[in-house]
Amino acid sequence: MSMIKRQTTINRIFKVSGIGLHSGHEVTLEFLPRREFGVVFVHKGVSIPARYDMVADTRLSTQIGAGGAAVSTIEHLMAAFYFSGITNCLVYIDGPEVPILDGSAWEFYQGMWKAGVYEFPESGVYLKVQRPIEVHHNDSWVKIKPLNTLEITMSIEFRPPVGKQKKRVTDVENAFAIINSRTFVLQEEIEAIRKIGLARGGSLDNAVVIGSDEIMNPKGLRYKNELVNHKILDLIGDFYTSGYRILGKVEANKTGHYLNNMLLRELFSDPLNYTIY
Ligand SMILES: [Zn+2]
Repeated sequence: MSMIKRQTTINRIFKVSGIGLHSGHEVTLEFLPRREFGVVFVHKGVSIPARYDMVADTRLSTQIGAGGAAVSTIEHLMAAFYFSGITNCLVYIDGPEVPILDGSAWEFYQGMWKAGVYEFPESGVYLKVQRPIEVHHNDSWVKIKPLNTLEITMSIEFRPPVGKQKKRVTDVENAFAIINSRTFVLQEEIEAIRKIGLARGGSLDNAVVIGSDEIMNPKGLRYKNELVNHKILDLIGDFYTSGYRILGKVEANKTGHYLNNMLLRELFSDPLNYTIY
């Protein structure tokens, strides 16, 4: 959905269930309309705003936490909110991790689309970047500079058969191939991730697995660019923890949840860096 100008919420309540990628446990999310600005998770009776300054861990997913409660892997759901144009929503969650579903934002997006959008009179949903910001970590970086739309250029590099891939998206609000591009993992990383107790729910049904010379999933990739598309999806979801639809020209190289969050912290560190309307 493009041309969102005002605050919105979902038009009716809906639920989504599935297993958490890292915990392997079944989790149910219940989405409720919200009058006040922003997306807020409620877990164990604790409200946790889905905001960059509540982000507590960025190891393998974006996790928010407050008051002894935490919710992880929020990034694909946040991207679904972005693409649906939803600014205000209450998300009740009965487990510590947002379900992985098919590894993309598709099922959340469909749920929001079916629920419909209710528009409020208030604006203040866009954040326009006014000064260039960039953050680095080793050879990874993400930069943003002023532009009247959101444009994202993403580069990734992994061992063969992935190699170097680069994609530029100019009309991000309508880049629907991003929404159902799935998360991915290198085959040799699976064991290492499992050893630290994560990815217990991972399977070929919810991730693209990259073998030594081919994609292991029987049906292959959904798009030729699916992997770099997914990195863009993660960035959109992470950036939406700003609370706003960011306008700017983004360039990123091998970025991840940590740097995406660092960029937002840098952005909000000085009110002269942005305007909201
Ligand atoms: Zn992801």
